[in-house]
Amino acid sequence: MADKAFDAHCHLFTLEYLLRELLAILDSAVQKQYPVYPQPSFLTAASQDHRGFFQKLTDTIGSIAGLCEVLAESCAQHLAKDCAGYSAHQADDLITLPLMMDIFYIFRHGDVADTDQGATFTELANSLIAPLLAQVPAALKPVVKQKMLDLIEEFSTKTHPSPLAALTLPDQLKIDYTGVELSPGYQVHMEELVALRVPAPDMVLPFLGVDPRRPGIETFVKNNVGPNRPFVGVKIYPPLGYLPTENTLTNIFAYCEAQAIPVTAHCQMNSFYNFFSPLHEEYKALAAPQHWEPVLKNHPRLRLNLAHCGGSDAVAAYLAQQNLATNWTKRILDFMDIYPNVYADIAAFTDDESARNVAVLYAQNPILRQRLMFGTDYVICLLPGHENLGGRMSSYYGYYFRDLDEATRTALFFDNPRAFLGLPASIATAVAAPTG
Ligand SMILES: [Zn+2]
Repeated sequence: MADKAFDAHCHLFTLEYLLRELLAILDSAVQKQYPVYPQPSFLTAASQDHRGFFQKLTDTIGSIAGLCEVLAESCAQHLAKDCAGYSAHQADDLITLPLMMDIFYIFRHGDVADTDQGATFTELANSLIAPLLAQVPAALKPVVKQKMLDLIEEFSTKTHPSPLAALTLPDQLKIDYTGVELSPGYQVHMEELVALRVPAPDMVLPFLGVDPRRPGIETFVKNNVGPNRPFVGVKIYPPLGYLPTENTLTNIFAYCEAQAIPVTAHCQMNSFYNFFSPLHEEYKALAAPQHWEPVLKNHPRLRLNLAHCGGSDAVAAYLAQQNLATNWTKRILDFMDIYPNVYADIAAFTDDESARNVAVLYAQNPILRQRLMFGTDYVICLLPGHENLGGRMSSYYGYYFRDLDEATRTALFFDNPRAFLGLPASIATAVAAPTG
């Protein structure tokens, strides 16, 4: 069998997903069904976003325009690009772990009063086209406009696509929707990821995006995540306004621990969601590793990946021995010493210096030989703000073929993700020397 490496942290989603889910939020708000939550007690009033709902939606639609160029392609095309980036350096196959998004609760503790504009969904949705197109590069304007018109028609007629419906599915990839509340973007996004598994179920291992505010999510996890199920793991994103100690999550983590299901949690101050609705520092800080301490105390064998290892800036500060008492990377390393199944990944270490820091961090901390995983954060690592990669995934992989020796690459690209996933060693051997 050929060698296989892992990208333990990537995201495969499309412009269409973002637009469909934002229209789902609008649709739900117009029907007065969009959930509004009181500000949680762990956040102060200072973190509240006082823009009205429709203003937030308009601003968000405008900021998505900057992502259009990268996100216009399909999930399958995105997947091929990540794999091509790896195979520019190495001939083996790449197994990807796409982590699902769930943006439906992005306006979280907001004020929905101004959704009542005395206008219909179609009128309001049409009025979003101009702010979107104002920011879109000229060459893409016709495509993006048509996409919006098609989606508005889709919502008006309630004819949302079902990517899995057209496929013959093995039982293990059939999604059981019993009891969960779905939004159209969430459903299509999830089905697109599962569809990628149909030709080769072991090559794409998606993680279900779990927001504890989604009604029925606990049952949905139990029905759909685990061995021989559509999803192999759970993805958590606390900066959207919740803590990992939330009741629903406590039940889900108990289940994941008992079933040895891996959980990946966003764990750095930078957040992709800043593109949508600028996050106050207090929200970003919900990603901090210390919020996982009570979870790990109660579930000491939980397979938990604290993604981004605290962030490339936290790794740099740790190596410089700055403010260690509050350093996120240090906290994660301390967890690793106590808990046998705490992992971290190096997703979004997209610049030259950050990549070199990974090699130093690894050399200084022997525990990482069993716990650190390679990841890219693709497709996010190609979005605006990461111009240094020049739009090429081969550049990202290139850093790690340059800076890591073969034994380190074997640990990061193969052994550690395999252990995190609980896969047998027999599925592959090792990452060999680079080609060319
Ligand atoms: Zn990510």
